[in-house]
Amino acid sequence: MTIYVGVDDTDSKVGMCTTYIAIEVLKRLMKENLGIVSYPRLVRLNPNIPWKTRGNGAIALLIGTGSAREQIIGEINGKPIFIISDEEPCSNELVEDVFSTVCEVIEEFYISDDKNTNPGVVVTCIKPPSTFYWSTVRSVVKLESVMRWLESQKVLYKGWGNKRGLIGALAAISWSPKDKTYELLTYKNRNEWLKRPLYDKESVKMLDKVLRCSFDNYDYVEDCACIFPRALTPVLYGVRGDDPKELKLALKIVKTNLRPYAWLIFETNQGTDDHIVRVCIGKIRPRMSVLIEGIVSEKPKIIEGGHVIFKVQDDTGEIYCAAYEPTKGFRKIVLQLIPGDKVKIWGSVKEYPNTVNVEKIEVIELKRIIIKRPPLCPICKKRMTSAGKGKGFKCKRCGTRLPEDTAVIEEIPRKLKEGIYEVPPVARRHLSMPIKRIKMRERGLC
Ligand code: ATP
Repeated sequence: MTIYVGVDDTDSKVGMCTTYIAIEVLKRLMKENLGIVSYPRLVRLNPNIPWKTRGNGAIALLIGTGSAREQIIGEINGKPIFIISDEEPCSNELVEDVFSTVCEVIEEFYISDDKNTNPGVVVTCIKPPSTFYWSTVRSVVKLESVMRWLESQKVLYKGWGNKRGLIGALAAISWSPKDKTYELLTYKNRNEWLKRPLYDKESVKMLDKVLRCSFDNYDYVEDCACIFPRALTPVLYGVRGDDPKELKLALKIVKTNLRPYAWLIFETNQGTDDHIVRVCIGKIRPRMSVLIEGIVSEKPKIIEGGHVIFKVQDDTGEIYCAAYEPTKGFRKIVLQLIPGDKVKIWGSVKEYPNTVNVEKIEVIELKRIIIKRPPLCPICKKRMTSAGKGKGFKCKRCGTRLPEDTAVIEEIPRKLKEGIYEVPPVARRHLSMPIKRIKMRERGLC
């Protein structure tokens, strides 16, 4: 029997990472002959939640008591972490033991002096319905509705502070992975949590070449590695991809001055576009992530801060779309759009007035630019000029006149090509599906 453990909101902007709770919980559970029966889960939730710390991630651990060791999915201080077979029933005492172990770990590690850190833990033997996951990844969930459900069920739970972490904790254990990816996370020694690692860029480029099913390792335009967290956290680096076995190669390839104290492969919803809802523009509401299809209705312009904004319209309405400054070179693509271009846009809607923060854009059909020019003078071979509206053309040099229907019709070629474009890896949302992955799926490679 599986015990589902969900945890969220233990970190703050100045430290910790909720995924590290998994390391400390597993360390303690392994001593008690318990183990995980499936990959630990790192579940990203609605990226538009204003009270998130960074990437709105929660974790779920599926715990059991089987004896057969199946595969190694991590290591803590040299000790392997196995996925075990889930064969023995769990007593109520055991479930309570797991719950108190997780609570102890949270008490020890959560950032208790930050008002925005409000941990939550949920432990249950019955998997909650996946509707909790879908509403938490796609909309804003009220704590009261989560509390109502927790109270009505036979589950163990605890919240600290305003208890908001219970929302993410419940969502994490409700996830039934359909589409999924993996992330190998490595962790620093505790005395090095506040150290920024030095690393060899070439080793990260090598990693990117060798791991065929991995994504977002290196941003070649910005010339920087994307596997190292920007904030100072217990995480040394994280490598994402579709093949968990391949990810282990990172441990041999990536060169840093800090030696990982632990590593663990998580099953995740990163790179799946699970946050995206296909809607018509009239149905867009703040804090949704959407896929819309429409026509560019206002020319892109650069506004203060270097952001590029433009408008898109469909039969139900019109909305501003933005490629913000951190999306760097992606803005150059967006600036080439013109009114009349048919596009699909994936993006998140944060604030009122609603603006779609573009994550990907597909140019479905380019508007043709057709212009009418005066003809060349048949005598002087120079370009003629207009003789007035509807009055044809005249040559300034020799006075030759030609009628209006001698105008030359020309099509100006567009630099922009039809196709799909995305923000660079440095600006990627965790949940956003990279084009590399879209293409691999089309070819049945993941
Ligand atoms: P990190 O990714 O670094 O672990 P974080 O960005 O996940 O940090 P948290 O500290 O976990 O941020 O804060 C997010 C908070 O928002 C949590 O309390 C979580 O329960 C809550 N939350 C997550 N999704 C929703 C949602 N859809 N509606 C309401 N609250 C949510």
